[in-house]
Amino acid sequence: MKQVYLDYSATTPVKKEVLDQMIPYYTEHFGNPSSLYSIGLESKEAVNKAKEQVASLINADPGEIYFTAGGTESDNWVIFGVADALKNKGNHIITTQIEHHAMLHSCEHLEKHGYEITYLPVNEEGFVSPEDLEKAITDKTILVSVMLVNNEIGTVQPIKELAAVAKKHGVLFHTDAVQGLGNVPIDVKDMGVDFVSLSSHKIYGPKGEGGLYMRKGVKISNFVFGGAQEKGKRAGTENLPGIVGFGAAAELAKKNFDEHVKHCSSLRDYLVEQILEKIPDTYYNGPKDSSKRHPGNANITFEYIEGESILLLLDQFGISVSTGSACSSKSLKPSHVLSAIGIPVTKIHGSVRLTVGDFTTKEDIDYVVEKLELIVGRLREISSVNVEKGW
Ligand SMILES: *Cc1c(COP(=O)(O)O)cnc(C)c1O
Repeated sequence: MKQVYLDYSATTPVKKEVLDQMIPYYTEHFGNPSSLYSIGLESKEAVNKAKEQVASLINADPGEIYFTAGGTESDNWVIFGVADALKNKGNHIITTQIEHHAMLHSCEHLEKHGYEITYLPVNEEGFVSPEDLEKAITDKTILVSVMLVNNEIGTVQPIKELAAVAKKHGVLFHTDAVQGLGNVPIDVKDMGVDFVSLSSHKIYGPKGEGGLYMRKGVKISNFVFGGAQEKGKRAGTENLPGIVGFGAAAELAKKNFDEHVKHCSSLRDYLVEQILEKIPDTYYNGPKDSSKRHPGNANITFEYIEGESILLLLDQFGISVSTGSACSSKSLKPSHVLSAIGIPVTKIHGSVRLTVGDFTTKEDIDYVVEKLELIVGRLREISSVNVEKGW
């Protein structure tokens, strides 16, 4: 059966060019980067090369990149590392209502330990306002964290403006750029940020590998304690093949950036156009302006039916899509992101996220639209909401 993967924001396949570079680091180049003999030093060089590759994608210095086990760990490190290091300065952190659970659940944990968290609201397209941020800052504020690109509705935040507000008040600024990496231009120096969370598996690299950009001179507490790896800041023997893969994926993402964005946004625009034209009572959620949206992201509400039913029936045709974020889809709780942009609960339940990527083709989109028309039509025929609508 035909397989169409439209969930590139959940994860991506490792590209062959990336895998080819990783494999030797499982076998012949297996040395521990901390060892002082030749094969250890070779591994250390491979780690340093990967730092250059990742740094180059975001205009950082290689010494400002720390490898972690993924975006989740990077988010946790910043939140808990700043909370601990600056506890004498204050106990207030500002974030938003639409962050990834890696951020929100970490903040909820801190609330149990005496920290105060402000969750900034967003407008109907998911944008945070710099004025709201400025009003929320107090003399107890130690960190502002706003994600660069939202994983459900693709909103690209005005990070440069937001970071400038934090800086004016002498507050550290973090952005979770996991969805932004390789999809929107990132220049840490121009943006004026202190911390950036990165992940490898959303940019065609391996899973379980990520990074944290920490601006030179900024000091926070460790999150993982142990050996002296990563200049004593992140312990544990390096995931060498993972790091090499992340570096290779970052280099490829930089090289292919323009082509990738053009490919994804044109297929996404075509997908959205086709769905809205062919299927009645459908709505496009999130920013309408493509330049302020993740190039591959579409989030659509199909009224009167459930997103989970659509997902399961599409799966029968070999099509993979998502409802909300991967973590919340099992719980059937309405998406906190769609709630925050003011979509009523009944419509949230009928929402589906479709994300295209480098391997998506126009034929794939035509196939998905054809099956969606069929599935949505069938589900609406049997939907109990028909009674209310008087169909
Ligand atoms: C995927 C994702 C994460 C988590 O990254 P992992 O590498 O899977 O731990 C964090 N934030 C955002 C916005 C994400 O999309």
